[in-house]
Amino acid sequence: IFDEFSIKTLVRPVPDFPKPGVVFRDITPLLQSPKALRMVADSLIQRYVESDFSHVGALDARGFIIGSIIAYELNRPLILFRKKGKLPADVLAASYSTEYGEAFLEVHADSLCEGDSVLLLDDLIATGGTLVAAAQLVRRMGAQIHEAAAIIDLPELGGSRKLQDMGIPTFTLTAFE
Ligand code: 5GP
Repeated sequence: IFDEFSIKTLVRPVPDFPKPGVVFRDITPLLQSPKALRMVADSLIQRYVESDFSHVGALDARGFIIGSIIAYELNRPLILFRKKGKLPADVLAASYSTEYGEAFLEVHADSLCEGDSVLLLDDLIATGGTLVAAAQLVRRMGAQIHEAAAIIDLPELGGSRKLQDMGIPTFTLTAFE
């Protein structure tokens, strides 16, 4: 069973990272607990085991961790959404802004086709900018978003609301107000 309290205690608040005034929610203690990481993975696997999405889309960089576990366990192709300049072949790019500034997200242009349905995974939703950019790239390739999922939501930053307003179903395991 999913013990939200123990998951939350394994997310460490780090004040003033990466800049003054931001409280960074650090998931490395969670990753260092095999029991907690398994609980997070198992909860997502249970949610999606009967779902008919075609691909897992994992977001650079902590989304790769949970994304690869889910892609492995549910036997789906894994697509990487990466920060600018990391993917070697032809890419599509979308600009976005985070709480920290302007950035670009890229995906290989041949990674999805019309009719594909993608489960997007990241560790955390803040302003939603990163997942919105990934969703735009998915839609530009003619594919759909099955759901955008993360371990943690920061609802005060409005990201999960923004995604839902764009018609993107959103799911998170826990939230920090
Ligand atoms: P957003 O685009 O929703 O504003 O920010 C979410 C993205 O930035 C995610 O890829 C996430 O990994 C990263 N991020 C932003 N703030 C935090 C934070 O406080 N903790 C963690 N672990 N990641 C964050």
